[in-house]
Amino acid sequence: MRGLPLDERPRNPTSLKVALFRMIVLALSLFTVTALVVVSHDQHFAILHTGRTNPRDFHRLPVQCPAQIPGQRRGMYADRLRGAVRVRTETFDGAPTVGDDAWYDKFYDLEAYLVDTFPDVFGSLQLKHFATHGLLLTWKGSDASLQPLVLMAHQDTVPVPEQTLSRWTHPPFEAVLDDDGWIWGRGVADCKSLLVAHLSAVSELLKAGFKPKRTVHLSFGFDEEGGGVHSARAMAAHLEDIYGLDSIFMIVDEGGGIQEGFGQTWVAPSTGEKGSVNIQLSVNVPGGHSSIPPAHTGIGILSAIVSTVEANPPPVFTMCLAEHGTIDAALKKLLQHERTWPAAAQWMAERNPGDAARLSTTQAVDIIGGGVKVNALPEEAHAIVNHRFGEEPPAGEARYLRLSTPGGAEASPVTPAKGNAWEVFAATSRHLYPDAIVAPYLTTGGTDTRSFVNLTRAIFRFQAVRDKERVNAHTVDERLHLDGHLNSIAWVHALMQNVDAFRE
Ligand SMILES: [Zn+2]
Repeated sequence: MRGLPLDERPRNPTSLKVALFRMIVLALSLFTVTALVVVSHDQHFAILHTGRTNPRDFHRLPVQCPAQIPGQRRGMYADRLRGAVRVRTETFDGAPTVGDDAWYDKFYDLEAYLVDTFPDVFGSLQLKHFATHGLLLTWKGSDASLQPLVLMAHQDTVPVPEQTLSRWTHPPFEAVLDDDGWIWGRGVADCKSLLVAHLSAVSELLKAGFKPKRTVHLSFGFDEEGGGVHSARAMAAHLEDIYGLDSIFMIVDEGGGIQEGFGQTWVAPSTGEKGSVNIQLSVNVPGGHSSIPPAHTGIGILSAIVSTVEANPPPVFTMCLAEHGTIDAALKKLLQHERTWPAAAQWMAERNPGDAARLSTTQAVDIIGGGVKVNALPEEAHAIVNHRFGEEPPAGEARYLRLSTPGGAEASPVTPAKGNAWEVFAATSRHLYPDAIVAPYLTTGGTDTRSFVNLTRAIFRFQAVRDKERVNAHTVDERLHLDGHLNSIAWVHALMQNVDAFRE
């Protein structure tokens, strides 16, 4: 990407310190618009100007995070995470619907591992179970009038299909730490690093004698990859019982990270979440003996439908606005007028699959099935297409092609990029990444925070890991760089102190 020469950069005082950059992402389905406004200004100082917080709380954190000190501790932090990856906690579609089903017993092993690894945390904080394996830890603050902080992560991972095992560079449950600092394994990036980072941060603060005034909850669900129907909902309902609606200061869960792009470093918390719907296409045709086959069996017809679906992706409806960033001249031109924003979105989507996913409804044919016997024509064949958007799914019924919608979720409300929680989030991030711009972002996956939307609008889906430090979540060779893990410990460690020091 071409960069602007320095002397062409904006000259006003604010933008000399931080390039003033704006981006509006509208995640627009056919009928629904989700707007995310990227705010840039100097968030680090914004919080100091409020006068509500002692600036020293933000300039010099009372406790420095040991994860930022280079040295032998790296091995300890790495080992904690590697141990968690070695406990297999895969979730499968169609897993039992009750948390106490023996199928979920593997989560006892993970809990035992965590208790063993963090005896100080589990010895000092109060632990409550939800839906058997959902873990809610409470670090009670001394001032009950302050709204609590909730740090979330999930214990489960997506599975490793048997047939992909040979494609892994290192076995997915050995958690190999290679010479370049990468930890390899299923769940290391999604989302055991964040889970262990939360616990490590609490552990370090306990060691330092930190006593929170504001209550902190750690909420670890066990069925996020399956939709979080048990643990997240149960824990959210419990918190709602204790505190009521709109009662939490801030929630942090997995999601966005630290990105490089447009000539800038971006701290990009996901402040929105797309809705999703699964559409099952079922072809029902007469069966018969396969010795007298028709031109197309049910599977053939379904294949044609799947090909057609994939050949017709939903259009990019969305636009993005950027000012004063280091961006391509063609894109910059398109972003100058609202009427060319759709073309700008198209421009971005064509060049980056990630942008395409964020800027449009997506569709993915993920499951297919049909046929039972080699000498019988299939009477039924089906495919499930996962759409990510907010629109009401097309539904209907026909004799031969049936559409049904197994599972899905509404789009989540958008977190405002202003207000107390935003300021603390941004100030903390700027404290650790002084050159970064803090900007709302949209991640394409869903999280357990869906169940928590009644508790606060201030939901930040974010882990302080650079995008290049975590790769291949949900697929072969998932890995995370140890630097990313250490940085995310340090970020949570800082956030907890800043949230605690902040006064509304
Ligand atoms: Zn996840």
